[in-house]
Amino acid sequence: MQTTYLKVSPTHPEKDVLRIAADCITSGGLVVFPTETVYGLGADVFRPDSVKNIYIAKGRPSDNPLIAHIADISQLEILSREIPRTAYLLAESFWGGPLTMILKKRPRVPDAVTAGLDTVAVRLPSNSVANMLLSLAGSPVAAPSANLSGSPSPTSFEHAKSDMDARVDIIIDGGSAEIGVESTVVDLTADVPTILRPGAITREDIAEICGECVYGGDYSGAPKCPGMKYKHYGPKATVFAFEDFDFTPPAEDGAAVINYEKYRQSDNFYSAGDNDSDYAARLFYLLRKADEDNIKTLYAVLPEDKGIGVAVRNRLLKAAAGKVIRRSI
Ligand code: AMP
Ligand code: MG
Repeated sequence: MQTTYLKVSPTHPEKDVLRIAADCITSGGLVVFPTETVYGLGADVFRPDSVKNIYIAKGRPSDNPLIAHIADISQLEILSREIPRTAYLLAESFWGGPLTMILKKRPRVPDAVTAGLDTVAVRLPSNSVANMLLSLAGSPVAAPSANLSGSPSPTSFEHAKSDMDARVDIIIDGGSAEIGVESTVVDLTADVPTILRPGAITREDIAEICGECVYGGDYSGAPKCPGMKYKHYGPKATVFAFEDFDFTPPAEDGAAVINYEKYRQSDNFYSAGDNDSDYAARLFYLLRKADEDNIKTLYAVLPEDKGIGVAVRNRLLKAAAGKVIRRSI
């Protein structure tokens, strides 16, 4: 497949250019586009054959559901038949933004989008390119992250291109994803709002609006959706996560360290920046850079378990497949 590249301004995207991408989606094609979290790989929610092509392009198992992206809150009712008041309150506070809500789905939402579940995941982004594309497409767009299944999510056009070239119709270059980790997924069909995947919107943020909010999924050990059992974010390098900020890695060839700038040490030092938001924005970029630099062993510092650090820890622990170097006493 010949992939077309379209470049737009990240903040003031050219409408005539995005119309080409929107027309591609409405006529059944696949389009990679930037969002504020990571790059997404989109198809029209109501074209099951196109949605199935997303799974083929990613090599994604078909029991891992997708997120439906909308341009306007009014589109929520196209997708869901039971929308609790908390959904509207959360939308008012955090949409457009990095929050995905799980709601009961309408029967017309294809099984290809929800992997056969009776719930649908919905998000309204804040990224200008994503928003204009979604509104020109006129229909909700099903879009997981635009990486090959198992790889770190792409946060730049170059990384999206390296995974999706020749697999999709169009890749839009709209700059880097500002946040860098995927959206917070909150299940509003449970008795208490339940976070299935941590992201930039925190448990405390949601509890402030809904009164309460708990962690589920990965945290409780009982996956709410089948997709949670799969390998995630794995670079080719072996990843070790470490707790001690001033940990010094063993001297070995092909090793590199990710740590905050103020702990800069060895030659193969990959800076996580100055704070946890910087770290989130750089994490997936650095995991991919390690592969580009032929790094064999990557030691990555774990942020503190608060704010967006919760999401960075979650992705790192998955990338490390549980290999953690604990704090020395
Ligand atoms: P991605 O955007 O690639 O991170 O993939 C979407 C993620 O959203 C999936 O891996 C699931 O964790 C989550 N998700 C999508 N739909 C549902 C659903 N109906 N129930 C629970 N989680 C979902
Ligand atoms: Mg993904």
